[in-house]
Amino acid sequence: MMDGARTLTVLGATGSVGVNTLDVVARHPGKFRIAALTARNRTDLLFEQCLRFQPEIAVMLEPQAAADLDRRLRKAGQECRVLQGVEALEQAASLPQVDTVMAAIVGIAGLRPTLAAARAGKKVLLANKEALVTAGAILVEAVREGGAMLLPIDSEHNAIFQSLPRGCGTGLDRAGVRRVLLTASGGPFRKTPLHRLEHVTAEQACAHPNWVMGRKISVDSATMMNKGLEVIEARWLFGAGETRIEVVIHPESIVHSLVEYVDGSVIAQLGNPDMRTPIAFALGYPERIAAGVEFLDLARVGALHFERPDLQRFPCLRLAYSALVAGGSAPAVLNAANEIAVENFLAGRLKFTQIPRLIEAVLEQFPARPLVRLDDVLEADREARARATQWLNALQKQGADVARAGCAPRMTS
Ligand code: NAD
Ligand code: MG
Repeated sequence: MMDGARTLTVLGATGSVGVNTLDVVARHPGKFRIAALTARNRTDLLFEQCLRFQPEIAVMLEPQAAADLDRRLRKAGQECRVLQGVEALEQAASLPQVDTVMAAIVGIAGLRPTLAAARAGKKVLLANKEALVTAGAILVEAVREGGAMLLPIDSEHNAIFQSLPRGCGTGLDRAGVRRVLLTASGGPFRKTPLHRLEHVTAEQACAHPNWVMGRKISVDSATMMNKGLEVIEARWLFGAGETRIEVVIHPESIVHSLVEYVDGSVIAQLGNPDMRTPIAFALGYPERIAAGVEFLDLARVGALHFERPDLQRFPCLRLAYSALVAGGSAPAVLNAANEIAVENFLAGRLKFTQIPRLIEAVLEQFPARPLVRLDDVLEADREARARATQWLNALQKQGADVARAGCAPRMTS
C-alpha cells in the first residue's frame, strides 16, 4: 500500500501520455487526487476530464479555448478555476498542495512548466524529453536546488532506472555500470527501400508498428530522431557520456532497455509495449501498483531480435550524437530545427528525407554556445527556428522556380 493519497498535476492531460496517466489514476480510487489538468486547445476532452477528475484548476494555453472551457464548466455546475497561458502552466506545476507533476507536454513548450515543478521540489514524472534535451544542465540543477525528484516516463529510461540499483543516482561508476543500452523499434521504415523514403507520407510515418503515440513523437520514431533525443535524455538522467550509451534496434519492443555491468551481467526490463507500465511505476514509486496492461506471454512472443542501427537510413540519430558531443546550445538547436522540420513534414510541406537535411543545415550554422540560464536556451531555440524557417522558405522558392521550369518533383508529396 502507498502511504496516503498523492496530489497530482497533469501537464498535457489531453495527449497520449496524459490520457494514459489518467487511465492509471482512475484504476486506483483514493490513491490519487487531481489538482490541475492542462492542455493546449482540446476543450472537449479537457472538459470531460474535468467532470471526471474534478481538478481545482484547469489551464488551456489558448485564451479562446480557456473561455470556452470556463463557460462549459460553469454551465455544468462544476467548480473549477480556468486559467490561460504559459504562466498559468507554471502555476499549475508548482501549486503548494501538489506533490507529483506529470510533465507530458510535447516539445520545448513543456520546458518552463517542467522547470517550475522542479524548482518547487515536486516529484516530476518526466515524459517531456525535449525539456531535458534542450536544457539538461539547467533542469538537473533545478531538480537539485529544489529538492525535487526526476522519474523517467520514457519507456527506455524507465527501464534503465528499473535496471539500476535503487538510489544509484548518477553514480554509474560506483554502481559498476559499464554501459546503458537503449532499445529502438526502428519505426515503420526499418525495412523500407531507401529510395522510397523520399515519398513516404505523414500517415505512414505516424503508423508506428508497436506504440500508439502523439504525432510528433511518431514522426521522431520514424526518423529515429526520437532515439537521438533519448540518447541526450539518458546523458542527463544517468550522467552517462556518449560513449557509454548505445542504441540497439529491437523490432518487437518487448525489451525496453538494458544496463550492462562491469562483470558482464546485463539487466533489462521487459513488458508489453504499453506506456501505462512506466507511468504506473513512476506514479506508485517506490511501491508497485497495477497498470491495467496485458501481461507478457513470452511463449506467444516467441523470438526477440536485435540489430545495429543503420546510420545511413537514420541520419537523425547521427546528428543527435554529434549535438550531444558538441554540447552547450547544440542539443537545443537540434531540437528546435527538428520541431520545425516535423511540423512542416506533418503539414505536407517537407519530404521525409528533407527532415535531416534541414536539421543538419541549421546545426552547421550554429557553433555550440554555452548554456547557463534559461534565457540562453530560449534564445538558441528562437534563432534556430528562425534559421530553419529561412531554409524552408529558400527550399520553397527553389521548388517553385524549378516547378515553373517544369522539370523537377514538387516539394509536397
Ligand atoms: P501528444 O501530442 O499526444 O500530447 C501533447 C500534450 O501537450 C497535449 O495535451 C497538448 O494539449 C499539450 N500541448 C501541446 N503543445 C502545447 C503547448 N505549446 N503548450 C501547452 N501544452 C501543449 O504528445 P504525447 O505523445 O503524449 O507526448 C508527450 C511527451 O511525452 C513528448 O515529449 C513525448 O516525446 C513524450 N513521450 C511520449 C510517449 C508516448 O507514448 N506518447 C512515450 C515516451 C515519451
Ligand atoms: Mg521512448
